[in-house]
Amino acid sequence: MMFEWMPPVDKRPIKLIFVGDVAVGKTSLIRRFVDDVFVERTRPTVGVRVFSKKIDEFPPHSGEKIHLQLWDLSAHAHYDLIRPSYYAGAAGVVYVADVTRVDTIEHLERWMQDISMHVPRALGWAVSLNKVDFLTEVKSMADGEASWREHHAHLPEPLRDRHRVFYTSAKLGINVTETMRCVLSQVLASRQ
Ligand code: GDP
Repeated sequence: MMFEWMPPVDKRPIKLIFVGDVAVGKTSLIRRFVDDVFVERTRPTVGVRVFSKKIDEFPPHSGEKIHLQLWDLSAHAHYDLIRPSYYAGAAGVVYVADVTRVDTIEHLERWMQDISMHVPRALGWAVSLNKVDFLTEVKSMADGEASWREHHAHLPEPLRDRHRVFYTSAKLGINVTETMRCVLSQVLASRQ
């Protein structure tokens, strides 16, 4: 009998998936996080792209190294049938919406349902309300109560958790690391 070698569970890459409507900024958030760059005009993602990032210390000063796989899934309806197969093995999810388009915030409900239909266990999660640089007074709005009051009613009920919802800008690099840290801490906590 042949045994396939498998790395110990907690040495395997941590798979995080990014979901949300077309053009909300999924690819841009990943690129900001992985390479610290922003590209003004991106081409729509075809199917799926997998990015990889190693973090030397997470949590900070823990001496723990982690290897992340970030799955950028095309939101195009064309991929609706195959998309669920990309959810397999995910440990966490980043729900992404465009803060200037309320419908993309409301649509997170569909994304949540799609994932819960196909992934039986609870995932670490965070919400990125992206493109906060378009809001006026960006500095005060980025984490202010006023914007939270304005947007939280549009979020599906289970995602209305102030500690897991971030106003982000992939363009300016606002709250991108914080969003990732939020998901990762939940994932690591659930592994213990
Ligand atoms: P995706 O389809 O969800 O992966 O979205 P993309 O990352 O391809 O971004 C769609 C468009 O929005 C591109 O033109 C990006 O340059 C732009 N974009 C993404 N994030 C931001 C952001 O934080 N601020 C601004 N102003 N534009 C952004």
